[in-house]
Amino acid sequence: MTKSKLMVQLGDDYNDGMIYIPRNIMHSKLGDKAKLVYSVYNQYETRDMNFIFKQLDIEVKDVVKAYRKLIKAGWIEEEEYTPQDIKREVLTREKQLKCEWCHEGSLVLHSHHYPIPKRLGGEEVVNICPNCHYAFHSLESQLI
Ligand SMILES: [Zn+2]
Ligand SMILES: [Zn+2]
Repeated sequence: MTKSKLMVQLGDDYNDGMIYIPRNIMHSKLGDKAKLVYSVYNQYETRDMNFIFKQLDIEVKDVVKAYRKLIKAGWIEEEEYTPQDIKREVLTREKQLKCEWCHEGSLVLHSHHYPIPKRLGGEEVVNICPNCHYAFHSLESQLI
């Protein structure tokens, strides 16, 4: 974790742009990333992962992991999502992941065994978007 955004204040004052780490979580056994994610969640009263991500110098997947840990540990209450909520998330989330092949942003990447297929003992993988992955296997079935 980078130190630049980890500015701790123990007083009750908020300083602009600072992430205030509440005393109770500061003394918990959670990891630094979970503490930071909780602090942003708490300070800005938001569950918006993109917003939380932008406040911190950590990767999106670490924000998501930290968030899940916080729910498990009872710091953040679990919310029920409807299919409509999830659709909205899919449409509004920024496509932070980059496909190794087409270099397009994607919400999801697949690990695909390449250049040697898994069934032939391949261990090397590329992380590609579902489009490229689908196209590969679809062409493969037509060409081979
Ligand atoms: Zn792609
Ligand atoms: Zn594949």
